[in-house]
Amino acid sequence: MTLRSQDPEIFDLIMRERARQRDDLELIASENYVSQAVMEATGTVLTNKYAEGLPGKRYYGGCEVVDVVEDLARTRALRLFPGSEGVNVQPHSGAQANAAVYLAALKAGDTLLGLDLSNGGHLTHGSSANSSGKLYRAVHYRVNERGIIDLDHVRDIARAEKPRIIVTGASAYPRLWDFAAFRTIADEVGALLLADMAHFAGLVAADLHPTPFGHCDYVTTTTHKTLRGPRGGMAFAREAHMKGLNSAVFPGLQGGPLMHVIAAKAVAFGEALDPSFRGYARSVIDNAQAMATTLVERGVTLVSGGTDNHLMLLDFSDKSYSGRDAEQALGRAGITVNKNTVPNEKRSPFVTSGVRIGTPAMTTRGLGLGEAVLVAGWIADVLDNWQDEGSLLRIRGQVHELTGRFPVPGIG
Ligand SMILES: *Cc1c(COP(=O)(O)O)cnc(C)c1O
Repeated sequence: MTLRSQDPEIFDLIMRERARQRDDLELIASENYVSQAVMEATGTVLTNKYAEGLPGKRYYGGCEVVDVVEDLARTRALRLFPGSEGVNVQPHSGAQANAAVYLAALKAGDTLLGLDLSNGGHLTHGSSANSSGKLYRAVHYRVNERGIIDLDHVRDIARAEKPRIIVTGASAYPRLWDFAAFRTIADEVGALLLADMAHFAGLVAADLHPTPFGHCDYVTTTTHKTLRGPRGGMAFAREAHMKGLNSAVFPGLQGGPLMHVIAAKAVAFGEALDPSFRGYARSVIDNAQAMATTLVERGVTLVSGGTDNHLMLLDFSDKSYSGRDAEQALGRAGITVNKNTVPNEKRSPFVTSGVRIGTPAMTTRGLGLGEAVLVAGWIADVLDNWQDEGSLLRIRGQVHELTGRFPVPGIG
């Protein structure tokens, strides 16, 4: 029986969400649109299969087919990131991948040094609300007054705190990471080094962002952000750490792997290995920089003044409206973003003084430099008129006219 006839309530909601994704302009920096092929692989009979363990070493029978699937995913992942030595493609999400690394590398109470959450870091980098901040002794580095990570500051904290692991990577940091410099600091204090490239993995794969491989003991990522695969995670380690990492993922944290998602990961890695992916990633960065330039010209303050990657952080600290106000006004204009804390945040995390904007999804649907400038102009118009419903509706019409001309892969 089809979903539509069996459960029209859920079917209709999925159709509504499909229309929202098609009609509105998606600028959430952590989101993307997967290809039809990735979507297809996700919705297959592989969801029926239990495959605890690793290829060739399973706890269930009937794994001969899914073994090949997982091996392909691993081989492609290693090929996609030159310098990588081993990978586990089973983590259900980026958060699970990080938890697995910590479980493998740390003992309860060990010190973890990561970027502060309100400065762009992620919950799993030692927030007190997350297991990483409850099981381990988390300390944090911050960005400087220009919004940039100052390596002297990181070195000072590392010397004082003697972390067991230093975590690099972030969720809202618009600049590049210097993994070689972090390696030097980690070596000086005897720390392990983790790169959480959840946000910029696609840019690393395209060779448009410094690679953490060769510098880091562990590298984790999501597969659904700039990498444009299914929702999920994966974790890489140096050969010597792989055994510990594998047993941290299973049986340490997870049960059976999601084989349908692992198949979709393999498909996405295949797409990222295609030379055309580099053009996509280049365009993601070009679009972000064009938007940043236009926003600055229109008087919007950006944390660190611009971007080197796929995202930017708009700072409303000196404005009468908050991040929440801006998110809501942009939403009424058909532009989807998320409110975000900014460095030295004075409002609550539910209100915030910033908005994070990213170009991975809009670039996937084919928007280029001309459209990026246009969209940035609309964002500035919305901010200038955030309480004027008439202006917001007028912009909404223009947004929908634009998205109507750029079909989403797999949706049309
Ligand atoms: C998105 C993100 C994660 C978590 O990914 P989930 O799949 O949502 O668990 C981890 N680290 C960073 C830096 C992220 O941006």
